[in-house]
Amino acid sequence: MKKLAAGNWKMNGRTAQLTEAMALAAAHPSPTVDVLLCPPATLLAAMAQAMVGTAVALGGQDCHAAEKGAHTGDIAAAMLVDAGASHVILGHSERRADHGESSADVAAKVRAAWAAGLTAIVCLGETEAQRDAGETLAVIGAQLAGSLPEGASAENTVIAYEPVWAIGTGRTPTPEQIAEVHAFLRQNAPDAGIRLLYGGSVNPGNAAAIFALPNVDGALVGGASLKAADFGQIITALE
Ligand code: PEP
Repeated sequence: MKKLAAGNWKMNGRTAQLTEAMALAAAHPSPTVDVLLCPPATLLAAMAQAMVGTAVALGGQDCHAAEKGAHTGDIAAAMLVDAGASHVILGHSERRADHGESSADVAAKVRAAWAAGLTAIVCLGETEAQRDAGETLAVIGAQLAGSLPEGASAENTVIAYEPVWAIGTGRTPTPEQIAEVHAFLRQNAPDAGIRLLYGGSVNPGNAAAIFALPNVDGALVGGASLKAADFGQIITALE
């Protein structure tokens, strides 16, 4: 299975930071892993222009469930495609928490993404309280069942396991904790070929150890994807 290094820039980046994407593409002209950058929507079209002829693919960070219409401030999946995206992150814990997105909302967005021809990167993860209560696999199982509509396959879907307590905190689960959830996801995903990413404080120092774990097919990287040098080292660790 080809590995995937996906960078989530979140609400970071101005036109000036396109140079980071260009440096990354120049340093990895023909990577043996798939490389994806998900900039803010405002940068998508310009980054697509800057990435022409490179091996870097682009993704959005969210889309609306509707095809078009009266949804001020929202972005339709087809608009992401129009701006140059091939992927979209859906159900990120920051969207679930900040915007009250339920797994049913996420599933509706996944359907819209597929209809537009996008690959959906569906994020799942437990909170610290849920882990402490021993509910991790139950939470992940419920999110998986609720967020993935029928028809999910290796061609249209990637799953990212992102423990909420590990995102942006510098804390990562133990190798055993990551391996347990990834084994559960491999067994319970509707298609065994769906790539399973780990996300949560991945950095150049811990990437190799995380990628050595079974059933880890890549990473969804937040903070460390903003700097070409750091994200480049993570890509190298996957190769
Ligand atoms: C993320 O938000 O998808 C993420 C994994 O963030 P960070 O790498 O900064 O923890």
